Amino acid sequence: MRDFFRRLMIGRYGNDGLNRTLSIFGLVCMVVGLFLHPFYWLGIALLVVCYFRMFSRNTAARYRENIWYYNKTAALRTRLNQYKVRFSRRKIYRYFRCPICKQEMRVPRGRGRISVTCPKCKYEFIKKS
Ligand SMILES: [Zn+2]
Repeated sequence: MRDFFRRLMIGRYGNDGLNRTLSIFGLVCMVVGLFLHPFYWLGIALLVVCYFRMFSRNTAARYRENIWYYNKTAALRTRLNQYKVRFSRRKIYRYFRCPICKQEMRVPRGRGRISVTCPKCKYEFIKKS
């Protein structure tokens, strides 16, 4: 069985970031489609595209699509990753935004009321850490 799949996938593109996103959205759409019927077919369409890409032999085109996807979602993925990092360090740091220039900064937690100086515009303000 394992050999069968190995032979089946020779020369084919396989999985990538775009396919992972397509399959997740496809499955979510199918679940939503249980209540709102058109979403079910959208989910099926997304999964068909996902499997088409996975079994495609035109790896250069699939690679370009994946690069396009990564370029289009770079800002969003960076933002989500920042939230993830912040959440994991929420007990160690407090995060602030400068009221003047909106620069984000962090200070160690548990130091009481402290004076924070913005590293960008040098504006000073008091915050509880
Ligand atoms: Zn500032």
